[in-house]
Amino acid sequence: MTLRLYDTAARATREFVPVTPGKVSIYLCGATVQAPPHIGHIRSGVSFDIARRWLEHRGYAVTFVRNVTDIDDKIIRKAAEQGVETWRVAQANEYAFQQAYRVLGCEDPSVEPRATGHIPEMIAMMQALIDNGHAYAAGGDVYFRVRSFPEYGALAHFSVDDLEEQPVDDVAPTTHKEDPHDFTLWKASKPGEPFWDTPWGPGRPGWHLECSAMAHRYLGTNFDIHGGGVDLIFPHHENEQAQSHAFGDKFTNYWMHNGWVTLKNEKMSKSLGNSVLVTELAKQYRPVVLRYYLGTPHYRSMIEYTEDSLREADAAYSRIEGFVTRALETVGPTESAADVPAAFAESMDDDFGVPGAVAVLYNTVREGNTALAGGDKEGVASHLASVLKMLDILGLNPLAEPWSGAAGAAGSGTDLRPVVDTLVKVALEQRQAARERKDYAASDAIRDQLARAGVNVEDTPSGPRWTVNQ
Ligand SMILES: [Zn+2]
Repeated sequence: MTLRLYDTAARATREFVPVTPGKVSIYLCGATVQAPPHIGHIRSGVSFDIARRWLEHRGYAVTFVRNVTDIDDKIIRKAAEQGVETWRVAQANEYAFQQAYRVLGCEDPSVEPRATGHIPEMIAMMQALIDNGHAYAAGGDVYFRVRSFPEYGALAHFSVDDLEEQPVDDVAPTTHKEDPHDFTLWKASKPGEPFWDTPWGPGRPGWHLECSAMAHRYLGTNFDIHGGGVDLIFPHHENEQAQSHAFGDKFTNYWMHNGWVTLKNEKMSKSLGNSVLVTELAKQYRPVVLRYYLGTPHYRSMIEYTEDSLREADAAYSRIEGFVTRALETVGPTESAADVPAAFAESMDDDFGVPGAVAVLYNTVREGNTALAGGDKEGVASHLASVLKMLDILGLNPLAEPWSGAAGAAGSGTDLRPVVDTLVKVALEQRQAARERKDYAASDAIRDQLARAGVNVEDTPSGPRWTVNQ
């Protein structure tokens, strides 16, 4: 079975053939670091983390680039409002994004380049585009001449003439443009704004140019997959592709776009306030539950945000965890299986079909629970190993980093589980001793004290089991 991907440019699912056998290169448009992330911002990180894990499982060596846009109008405006340098606002929010990705179990990218660290590459690209007639400098700005490039519109499927009614590049002044649809590569700086010197005067990069320059720098002239949210298809990705193709790069072979997290059917926006910030939600729900919530729908579908859906995610993940815990008590420490069930693989190979794969996971959990009920230890062990392997691919294995030992620590990175384990064990031994001498008042008192500390004790046939209240 070969991997097939839905390619936005082709509007069709295509067989995946890598540029270089055995390797996959991915460029994902990362955050514009103007504010800390809400749950919608992290969705693409989780979706592409699962895709990456599946590609690695399929034996590919993956190079994963996720950029940081650390200069733009909103960052400049926020910095001015706060009376600080733009880099302070950008860096603080870059840390917040990094933390959120890690808290939700996303592996770090191979490289996380910042726009402001790649100005020479952008200048070289603009110079080449000016030299070959696809760009021009005017009034300190540099523009891409869209009518010089017949392919413009190939990704988003339109022709420039269809654009008359659409908003053109709304942040750039149009006064210097030869054509209102030309888009900005570089903006002349206004007084008081950060700037970099170029042959065309002091200025700063436009958003689109950054990604073309950084993709070229890290992934070369041709790479496998370019990803981002569905709202980036136009203008951002259309413009990236036009620049890169006009520059002479073959650029990406597949375009993958993830859906939004919506609120009342609209894209989540920053105006929602703090309630949906990752840091706030992680106080109410374990980060692994937030990952389950973001990662288990198909990456191309929209996720409607509701409190209920988060509670459902919590209940669903707890059922899987419950099986893992009971199975471990029955068969002891168990490694993940070497491979996933064939039906799981089939779903994942079909455009990263996580919902189908999760259905296989649930079937396996159900069969595992049946084996538990029937005292079939071998059955329990094989189903547990299989479940753990599937959870590894989804980044949801409760026994693996960063969840193992987290015990609700919300990704603080401090693994207190062994310490708590030892303390609770001492208390439980004392409780057991009290029970053996029939001092039930003492044994109940120990149990109550543990409960007040947030530790629930449950007596099971294989001895007492404890869990920490979340
Ligand atoms: Zn981009």
